[in-house]
Amino acid sequence: MSTEQQINTFVIVGGGTAGWIAASILSRALAHMPCKIRLIESPHIPTVGVGEATIPSIVDMLEYLKIPLADFIVKTNATFKYGIKFSDWHTIGQDYWHPFGYVGSKIDGRPFYQHWLKHKKHGGQTEFTDFSPAIALSKQNRFFIPDPKHPTNLSSSTYALHFDATLVAQYLTHYCLDKNVQHSLNHIQHVALNPEGQISHLLLEDGEQVNGDFFIDCSGQQSILMGKAMRIGYENWQHYLPVNKAVAAQSAALDPLPPYTRSVAHEHGWRWQIPLQNRTGNGYVYCDQYCTDSAAQDLLSKHVGEFITEPRTISFTTGKRQKMWHKNCLAIGLSSGFLEPLESTSIYLIMKAMLNFVQTLPSKKLHQAPINEFNRRMDHEYNCIRDFIILHYCETKRTDSDFWRMWQNLAIPDSLQTKLELFRAQGQLYHDTDDLFASDSWYSVYEGMGVRPDEYDPVIDSSDFTKIEQALLSSKVALEHNASKPLDHMAYLSRIKTK
Ligand SMILES: Cc1cc2nc3c(=O)[nH]c(=O)nc-3n(C[C@H](O)[C@H](O)[C@H](O)COP(=O)(O)OP(=O)(O)OC[C@H]3O[C@@H](n4cnc5c(N)ncnc54)[C@H](O)[C@@H]3O)c2cc1C
Repeated sequence: MSTEQQINTFVIVGGGTAGWIAASILSRALAHMPCKIRLIESPHIPTVGVGEATIPSIVDMLEYLKIPLADFIVKTNATFKYGIKFSDWHTIGQDYWHPFGYVGSKIDGRPFYQHWLKHKKHGGQTEFTDFSPAIALSKQNRFFIPDPKHPTNLSSSTYALHFDATLVAQYLTHYCLDKNVQHSLNHIQHVALNPEGQISHLLLEDGEQVNGDFFIDCSGQQSILMGKAMRIGYENWQHYLPVNKAVAAQSAALDPLPPYTRSVAHEHGWRWQIPLQNRTGNGYVYCDQYCTDSAAQDLLSKHVGEFITEPRTISFTTGKRQKMWHKNCLAIGLSSGFLEPLESTSIYLIMKAMLNFVQTLPSKKLHQAPINEFNRRMDHEYNCIRDFIILHYCETKRTDSDFWRMWQNLAIPDSLQTKLELFRAQGQLYHDTDDLFASDSWYSVYEGMGVRPDEYDPVIDSSDFTKIEQALLSSKVALEHNASKPLDHMAYLSRIKTK
């Protein structure tokens, strides 16, 4: 396919996190071009209203949009996030961390993990993530932003944010309206295709016909453009990841305020805890084959205490659309697919898709090769994240319920099987530079789920093991010591608010 027609008018359908991120990135990327961007959202269909934990790329997105971090934090009730604390996933009573940023640093040019593994095989008592600056700070509820001019042993910590999804949509609405994005509250009743199968126009409830050159489907699970009108199918991954429901409710703010998300495994799924400045987001993600909605709500209330909002049940189907970009339509956010929020990756996927998209539009014309490449890259993103999420479940040793026993017989993708086999044999990571999750993420979750290689890499035997053992112990102590110095997380946020 190739169309010589210039793309001048973009129509975004949906005013949730996906719609407003799409509009923000598009308006920023096309700031110097004479393009029109219009966002239409239904007054009858609310946004999903969850999606409040992120990964560090959110900070890159704010920088790209030239949004000042402090302003965003104040106006969205945001807090900082250094990673995730997982409890009861491997066995009941066991905790592990998935930190952002590096864990340790290379020794004699070889991965820190291999040296730590040798130390462990020789009876060492440390945990892998004891060498993560992010976790040392998390354990003491401290926060700071490293100053590149004054490097310390905490400098490799990186952070993400927790925020209020509704306030983020409002923040980005103002951002976009300042950039001349046209906003309409109107329900789309009909999506019309031309004989070539492209979207020609939308028909609104009030009778208006909206023409456009390019359409971005951010209509959530409805997927009214890509799914319903263009009939692009959905690849269902429930056989890999069977959870399909969540009940969400808010509770009072936590004190002290943790700079991390919590994920606690329960009888039929897992529970999130996302701390914001003024309240806490909670949810229980479960499989309705094993747990009724009311039992899920009871479990959430038992662990959270008093709710300050009515609990809401949300159904979802894990999977992804067969194509995210088809002809003159791009699907972003829930209309393009969904992976459970265990590693907070959906907002990342929205941002990544939009950044990939604007990179392919230098001439603002449609060509099939960049569309195929875009779809290939986004498929790869989804597959890598899917494998990483399955790893959190498939190695569990829990057998206390039908839900957890199910994992003993559940097939896993071949790609994850290969990753596990390579790692078990020699601690080798499947080398994939495009994987969102870097080596230390995989090492942390492998270790947390009890997957440890049979042997360490023998190449490291050329290093002085006694010296390395001493260095490991002293670096753990130094990290803990320095992590006690920065401000308390809540105090750091108060300082931002009063500046
Ligand atoms: C339980 C759960 C927890 C999650 N937690 C996280 C998390 O911690 N981190 C993370 O990154 N992501 C998370 N997500 C995903 C995240 O919530 C979504 O990716 C994000 O909110 C984007 O949603 P959306 O904008 O695609 O859809 P929605 O928020 O559903 O918005 C859809 C929009 O389309 C509009 N619309 C629909 N039909 C029409 C129509 N006919 N005419 C006009 N407009 C229409 C609606 O009015 C609405 O504005 C979670 C998702 C779920 C289900």
